[in-house]
Amino acid sequence: MNTYQVAVLAGDGIGPEVMHEALRVLSAVAQKYGFSVKCVEKLVGGAGIDACGKALPADTLEACEASDAILFGSVGGPKWESLPPDERPERGALLPLRAYFGLYANLRPGVCLPELTASSPLKDSLIAGGFDILCVRELTGGMYFGEPKFYGERDGELVGLDTMIYHRHEVERIGHLAFRAARSRSCRLCSVDKANVLSASVLWRSVMTELAAQYPDVQLSHMYVDNAAMQLVRNPGQFDVIVTENTFGDILTDEMAMICGSLGMLPSASLCTRNGGKTFGLYEPSGGSAPDIAGQGIANPIAQILSMGMMLRYSLGQPRAADAVDKAVRAVIAAGFRTRDLATGAPGERLIGTASMGDAVLDALT
Ligand code: NAD
Repeated sequence: MNTYQVAVLAGDGIGPEVMHEALRVLSAVAQKYGFSVKCVEKLVGGAGIDACGKALPADTLEACEASDAILFGSVGGPKWESLPPDERPERGALLPLRAYFGLYANLRPGVCLPELTASSPLKDSLIAGGFDILCVRELTGGMYFGEPKFYGERDGELVGLDTMIYHRHEVERIGHLAFRAARSRSCRLCSVDKANVLSASVLWRSVMTELAAQYPDVQLSHMYVDNAAMQLVRNPGQFDVIVTENTFGDILTDEMAMICGSLGMLPSASLCTRNGGKTFGLYEPSGGSAPDIAGQGIANPIAQILSMGMMLRYSLGQPRAADAVDKAVRAVIAAGFRTRDLATGAPGERLIGTASMGDAVLDALT
């Protein structure tokens, strides 16, 4: 029997509540598909700061290092907002984890199920039948990390400077990942850049075009980022897989989250390659710790459950189990179960809390 180890970092706010449901589903799906998972639970974020003064305690990092994947909840909240920026839960935990493992690829599915189109701010006529997009964002390069960076006075005037830089190998590795992702879906890949203005985008576009020769079954198109932002709200259904650089991806994935309806439905994965070619990753919901609803038992656990499903697919090599998790979630939504963030008051909806949503997914699985 295959056995895996997962570092479970539930974090703060709704993190522990939704993680509890995801772990119940993980245990059931492992049993059903004949593998076992050892979950090593560790503190992170505000919980780590409270316990030992560090958002990413040393033994938490050690557990991540020794595991096949990290299942992450969310961190942060008002209690820690007065700390210096670098010591706050988000900066003190997530960014170091990304940097330590070199998690260069961020996969964010933007799925609006046909039953949930009413939760999207877009008109029904634009998204009838829902949509299903996967955004592949480069996560460790571009303007957020480019040097030089500067903020201060020059020649008697205040100046801010950032550098958008990409190296060929950075574009190549995210490109390969995106082409492979497109291959596993409907073989359409849209590369988003600003090649009419930015040199980093000229490089981006030329490398993507070159890679396309290695994936003749994938149809590659290019789109400028300003147009992509418009097309996402005009006709999101036209997209299948989008690949883009760090800054553009940051903005477009938030836009995508908005048009999907609820943050409570959206998982994400941040990936790298380790230990002889294995895909290692940090899997987490797209939303934050939602302090406004924490402790009330009303948070939607689906984003956490789907993040766990992505972990099964990409890091644990269990695609059938991952498909089963996705299918169970779709069945639960089709049956009308809704946490508060999804409820519209339409006939047939059944308003339930966090634990009951976990129960419903478990029932659908088995
Ligand atoms: P948020 O994503 O926590 O919440 C935004 C809104 O979405 C809130 O109304 C919240 O109730 C709702 N929401 C989010 N997830 C939900 C779920 N699963 N079910 C139902 N509703 C859900 O963003 P915020 O309010 O801007 O930030 C709150 C805290 O989370 C801050 O401290 C922020 O820094 C932190 N944060 C952490 C992460 C992370 O851990 N990766 C990401 C974003 C924000």
